Amino acid sequence: MQPAAHAGRDLVDRFGRQISYVRLSVTDRCDLRCRYCMAEKMQFLPRRDLLSFEEIATLADLFIARGVRRIRLTGGEPLVRRDVGRLVRMLGERIGRGLEELTLTTNGTQLARFAALLHEAGVRRVNVSLDSRDPERFRYITRRGDLAPVLHGIEAAAVAGLAVKINMVALRGLNEDEIAPMLGWCAERGHDLTLIETMPLGEVEEDRTCHYLPLDRVRRRLEERFELVPSLRRTGGPARYWEVVGTRIRLGLITPLTGNFCAGCNRIRVAATGTVYGCLGHDQKVELRDLLRNGGPGAVDAALDRLVAGKPEGHDFRIEAARPAVERHMSVTGG
Ligand code: SAM
Ligand code: SF4
Repeated sequence: MQPAAHAGRDLVDRFGRQISYVRLSVTDRCDLRCRYCMAEKMQFLPRRDLLSFEEIATLADLFIARGVRRIRLTGGEPLVRRDVGRLVRMLGERIGRGLEELTLTTNGTQLARFAALLHEAGVRRVNVSLDSRDPERFRYITRRGDLAPVLHGIEAAAVAGLAVKINMVALRGLNEDEIAPMLGWCAERGHDLTLIETMPLGEVEEDRTCHYLPLDRVRRRLEERFELVPSLRRTGGPARYWEVVGTRIRLGLITPLTGNFCAGCNRIRVAATGTVYGCLGHDQKVELRDLLRNGGPGAVDAALDRLVAGKPEGHDFRIEAARPAVERHMSVTGG
């Protein structure tokens, strides 16, 4: 499918925010069941409902033609989708031809197997989620995971030449005491660290309020051990950054609850079915799968215009609310 007449027209919303970044979920499935992310028993999508790799590549071309410069593959766990290396290679061919960067967010369980392929395909940075470096706790938080392959995956990624950023969800009573040691560990290895507040997305068995940990408090504690200097770095994403003085790394904080991050939002999120969401915290969406199959590029472009025109100003997450802000789990849109 060739880009249509809208090609060259950037996707700019009514608040003047230009969409240059797409998070693309390639599957809602995962080999872990992190307690804050998923319910223990999840109903996953039938495979026939997923976009094919060719459809994803077509969609990527349409996005690129509309000014998208960065694509992040995510999930669920992106590396558990069958033959995902083929998709990474297909999208990697777009780097330098409109696409500036292809990245990936992963839980790391399969990373050792994929690290070299990712680098060969043009990926240069990966985010790896790691909430604990204690094997027992890691298993508890993920409900089933082994820590060793994840640590091995992180090493393999670094050896393959990938910059690794660690994502850690800060969980009161579960990993709070590991945050400062994690920052030290990351500093030794040259991995940036981003801490994330739990967000109320989708029903899970746990009461998220029990483990909710406000990151302003965490930062004050870290400052007793590390010198943190606010960084001017802005990515259009939810994180605010601090330089960790005396190290090569940055600390990022994603604070949807204690500090809304929406004003500079530059992103939209594609679920594995081709549903595209304007905001992580709202249901505003367009369905692109049928349009990709039967509608032609003009129809997809028009739907993207509708999505961006209606992109909400921001989320209104409240951790104490009785119900999640939206029904879908984070694993549908991949963060
Ligand atoms: N499976 C991959 C992983 O874990 O990195 C990619 C998808 S995962 C949904 C993306 C990120 O979202 C992870 O860093 C995860 O910790 C985070 N996440 C999932 N559910 C969350 C929630 N309810 N609140 C905050 N972060 C969440
Ligand atoms: Fe899977 Fe990532 Fe969700 Fe954990 S956070 S259950 S690894 S999708």
